Amino acid sequence: MQTQDLMISSILTHAARHHGSGEVVSRTEENTTHRYTWRDVESHSRRLARVLQKLGVAAGDRVGTLAWNGYRHLEVYYAAPGMGAICHTINPRLHADDISYIINHAQDKVLFVDISFAALASALAPHVSGSVKTVVMLTDAAHMPPMTLAPGIALACYDQLMDEADDNYAWPSFDENTASALCYTSGTTGRPKGVLYSHRSTWLHAYATALPDVLCIKATSRVLPVVPMFHVNAWGMPYAAALTGASLVLPGRHLDGASMAGLLNSERVSFTAGVPTVWMGLLQYLRSSGDRLETVQRIMTGGSAAPPLLIEAFRDEYGVAVEHGWGMTEISPVGTYNAPKPAQVGLTTDQAAAHMLKQGRILPGIDMKIVDGDGNELPWDGTAFGDLKVKGPWIANAYHGDEPDSALDEAGWFATGDVATIDPDGFIQITDRSKDVIKSGGEWISSITLENIAVSHPDVAEAAVIAAAHPKWDERPLLLVVPAPGKTIDPASVLALYQDKVAKWWLPDEILVVADLPHTATGKLLKTDLRTRFKDYYVRDAKA
Ligand code: AMP
Repeated sequence: MQTQDLMISSILTHAARHHGSGEVVSRTEENTTHRYTWRDVESHSRRLARVLQKLGVAAGDRVGTLAWNGYRHLEVYYAAPGMGAICHTINPRLHADDISYIINHAQDKVLFVDISFAALASALAPHVSGSVKTVVMLTDAAHMPPMTLAPGIALACYDQLMDEADDNYAWPSFDENTASALCYTSGTTGRPKGVLYSHRSTWLHAYATALPDVLCIKATSRVLPVVPMFHVNAWGMPYAAALTGASLVLPGRHLDGASMAGLLNSERVSFTAGVPTVWMGLLQYLRSSGDRLETVQRIMTGGSAAPPLLIEAFRDEYGVAVEHGWGMTEISPVGTYNAPKPAQVGLTTDQAAAHMLKQGRILPGIDMKIVDGDGNELPWDGTAFGDLKVKGPWIANAYHGDEPDSALDEAGWFATGDVATIDPDGFIQITDRSKDVIKSGGEWISSITLENIAVSHPDVAEAAVIAAAHPKWDERPLLLVVPAPGKTIDPASVLALYQDKVAKWWLPDEILVVADLPHTATGKLLKTDLRTRFKDYYVRDAKA
């Protein structure tokens, strides 16, 4: 067989040559709808490679982005790795201290910034002037925001730079193991850690995620990643869409229910992907407005566990399948997807509903196992739960800057930090983060199971269960609930929901009604914060 390095640029040249008229649609920061094709994305990316050269970017340099999902950001996604540099997407929702730490740690040479992050970029500038030489605003000359940057950092306008450049550039070929993109985990403790993807890992991940039993993306698909391009490469969809020739719809920054419903319908989107919070917002909007989803067939949900209500409401009220995927920054990110096997075909509605709560089965190419505290592999019986470990060619072996393989155990497995069950058909169900699991009298209680039951109560908007220290049992579950708008919560009626659903000893000892719950920059519950505030709740109570 011929050998040919798997280059990210060749995903794009394939799209341009074989799906040249496939559409890329963007809601822009200038409040317009921008349309062009994969053929245009490729020629613009070549032009951008020339711009990057002019800005002094060379192979191996890091090119940072602070941007929503849009076509200019997509061009950086392809131009930077295409020329051998590294596209470093930065999560603008992180604390400014963490952002400047990340930029300095990555040593970003240039930053590409959306105009809505102009103030953020100005505030960051004095702290990152050691590495950043140019800030390029992703807009045209008419929309350049007034900005003052630190001395030594030049300000430029994307469209102007592009107008001045030519696209006389040929994509180079080099080792497929070269780094292509960089993404920092949002870590709830300690500093963010960088995960460096390669051309090869990105290709393999794109192939695997496009498969029929995963995202099922085809040339006729119209896909809309709601998940931001700054959150693990929008789950790889910008690459999978180009690979398959699917049309790509990029929503910009307005991700509320009304904006989403409008865009999904007007752009005839067939498949969309994002975190449960976005789908809860969409559901609330659809219910209150009476709007329908006209073309969406499937919604991928991931990033945190989807409550049963979400899956059932979209299925019963809108005829849309909400499908679970699971993954993490270190897995590029998709590890599992919930698509049926023959055994699931004849399930009753109730059985199917329970099955859809699982996070799915492993993608071909990577593998998984669950282990107990001593590292012994646990059975795939759907009940035993243990630490989930993964292995494969799109899984990190170390964090950026650390020694190779330093994130692996002796046998080459990566510990995900998630706790899961695996059923006899190979479907995982995440029961917790390992640091969130509740250890009561030597047995484990799943906080996610308890949260899912709490949010099925009509008056509960959001729930968190944490392990609170207990004088007798070591830890016991403490449930915190936020009332739905205009509602009050009767704790006894929430507790009643647990009857017959979980073992008696799993029941939360107390239910506290709170006004809101803290979240991380990627929208996950910030349980470290809750633990600090409430970990001694039962101890204090017992003493009192
Ligand atoms: P991140 O690296 O920010 O994408 O976060 C990864 C973590 O999110 C995983 O380790 C899980 O704890 C959590 N996660 C991702 N997808 C799911 C899911 N479908 N259900 C439950 N937790 C999830």
